[in-house]
Amino acid sequence: MEAVRLYGVGDLRHDTVASPAAPAPDEVTLAVSVAGICGSDLHNYRTGAWISRAPSIAGHEFAGTVTAIGESVSHVAVGDRVIVDSRYTCGRCKACRGGVGQVCTELGFLGEVIDGGFAEHVTLPGRNVLKAPEGVADRHLAMAEPLSVALHALNLMHVPEGAEIIMTGCGPIGGLITLLATRTGHPVSIVDRNAARTALLAEATGATVTDLDALADHYYRYAIDTTGNAHVIKGLVSTIAGASRLGLVGIGTAADIIDPVHLVEREIALVGCHAFNDELATIGKMLPDLAPHLDPFIESMISLADVPTTYDRLLAGEATGIKTLIKIGDTGG
Ligand SMILES: [Zn+2]
Ligand SMILES: [Zn+2]
Repeated sequence: MEAVRLYGVGDLRHDTVASPAAPAPDEVTLAVSVAGICGSDLHNYRTGAWISRAPSIAGHEFAGTVTAIGESVSHVAVGDRVIVDSRYTCGRCKACRGGVGQVCTELGFLGEVIDGGFAEHVTLPGRNVLKAPEGVADRHLAMAEPLSVALHALNLMHVPEGAEIIMTGCGPIGGLITLLATRTGHPVSIVDRNAARTALLAEATGATVTDLDALADHYYRYAIDTTGNAHVIKGLVSTIAGASRLGLVGIGTAADIIDPVHLVEREIALVGCHAFNDELATIGKMLPDLAPHLDPFIESMISLADVPTTYDRLLAGEATGIKTLIKIGDTGG
């Protein structure tokens, strides 16, 4: 079958590989329909930060149809369309037992610790698939995972009803946070140096385009950063209003940018947001309503063969849209 595998830093290849093994008792096999390229895929390709095995079929955002199930899997059946939980958790550590698997001590992601969804077929643990809602196109189902990340960040921010949010970074996660926030009645101001992206997002969601220099004049108490950029985070910490919350979603590089005195004296709560917890099931229920609003976020639907050159294009900052999807199987949508 066709697959896209990461061999090492900067080395991603479109390969022909053997089909995955038949599912073990607690596993399922899917025919992948659509997958999405995530900022973290690009980060891993550029830095090798999460390479624990190589080559590994990449991809943690995907949807598909169940083609085989192990004997102890009962929540899905062959022929079901499913959405996929990208987290590979141990199920045994204190975090897992305490219901916060997103901080499992052994947390890994599909596509990194086991083969992922940039392939025609994938075998994965049954607990990683959830029956898809009826009537939602595969390209929208493939966005369930980043939508869950976006919803998790918003949930952690505890933004009071109607309160204004400033959002830095208009990539897929920033874009989807903006969509979910505006749909629940929050005015959102967006900042990104890519003007094509801010314009697109403003058009799709009604968000207001602003820039970091304008922040000081505005009284924001809820800020979310998806850039991970030290300069941007520093700017937010120094200009956000007192008694405020700052959510950090983007993964950057380690940097000395936060002054604890500043946080205490201006009472700024820092909120780290990582992956998601039970938000995937919630997004599954929301998808029929959200689906009609997702197409403006899709820049293009490419093939598996196009993935390596597309990584380079996206890393060069040449994206004009927000999300690149890969059409893999027969989707009918
Ligand atoms: Zn992702
Ligand atoms: Zn665990």
